[in-house]
Amino acid sequence: MSERIWNFGAGPAMLPEPVLKQVQKDVWDIAGSGIGIAEHSHRGKTFEKVIRETEQACRDLAGISDDYHVLFLQGGATLQFSMVPLNLLPKGGTADYLVTGVWSEKAVSEAKKVGNVHEAVSSAPKHDRIPPASEIKYSANPAYVHMTTNNTIYGTQWTTEPPVPAGVPLVADTSSDMFSRPIDVSRYGLIYAGAQKNLGPSGVVLVIIRKDLADLGPRDLPILLQYRTHVKDGSMHNTPNTFGIYVIGEVFKWIKAEGGLAAMAERNEAKGKLIYDYLDASPMFTARAQQGSRSLMNVCFNAKSEELEAKFLAEATKRGLDGLKGHRSAGGIRASTYNAMPIEGVRALVDFMKEFEQANS
Ligand SMILES: *Cc1c(COP(=O)(O)O)cnc(C)c1O
Repeated sequence: MSERIWNFGAGPAMLPEPVLKQVQKDVWDIAGSGIGIAEHSHRGKTFEKVIRETEQACRDLAGISDDYHVLFLQGGATLQFSMVPLNLLPKGGTADYLVTGVWSEKAVSEAKKVGNVHEAVSSAPKHDRIPPASEIKYSANPAYVHMTTNNTIYGTQWTTEPPVPAGVPLVADTSSDMFSRPIDVSRYGLIYAGAQKNLGPSGVVLVIIRKDLADLGPRDLPILLQYRTHVKDGSMHNTPNTFGIYVIGEVFKWIKAEGGLAAMAERNEAKGKLIYDYLDASPMFTARAQQGSRSLMNVCFNAKSEELEAKFLAEATKRGLDGLKGHRSAGGIRASTYNAMPIEGVRALVDFMKEFEQANS
């Protein structure tokens, strides 16, 4: 029936099929309005309902309290690398960063343009593990602590929040594992996630910010760089990514219908077990990340040689298993198994790996 293939790409990544089918309809005509979703004014009743319901669904999924604003912004996670320090790092202050991969390094480099940065811990250069709490050395009085919950490129993931000094807001880049499992938002001051991994199409970044923090930024910052602007105007100071926000709303409905975040976690654990158990037993393939630090979203592994990896990738593509090439900075093979990837896709991958192993050993 479907000509679609298994897409293990890291992002923009696959979307749930029921969502795509609904989107097909609503692009033509949403809610009997005679106008497609991408053609509606962001100031009109139809889109107003979409954004309101999307925010509410987000709040419901994670039990987000009224102490937080939920925003749908543009500029991706990358603009948050700048907005976070611009708004939360006061003159002369220091921000502490937990560096567990390429994206954390990029966040550090943007923060350094704004103020003092202290790297409280780092897994460089290999980034194949999440450092234990005992290795973290915070500065005397950090304005905030920044972490990256899932290392998309090297395939490591925090299993829980690190300990943070009392009263210091924890800021998290959750771009590649947001809503892949339950999240206790009350542990964080600010959470941001580029949508294109686990939440929807590219072009939207979800920002969840504690109300008091949204008002900290200097008032002479460019208007779009101040969180308070987006709070005041309900993510619509200028034209938002209406289509992207709509799709995210459909993904939230799908997550809810599938049983919510606990159900997502259960599915992601089952997928992870299938592939990591196979990797641990395989004489040809090795998981990149250390036990206990492994990502359930981006499974990174190597074959015995680069030649075998190239051959594997070429043959996998022919079999309808796509997007498996590792990030250019890490090499190897990466299977991204976000919420939308069903266990059947992971089974197809593991079956192919077994076959490849037999044919090439
Ligand atoms: C993909 C990714 C980013 C970059 O997101 P953009 O939306 O392209 O800016 C940042 N952080 C993490 C953890 C990512 O996976």
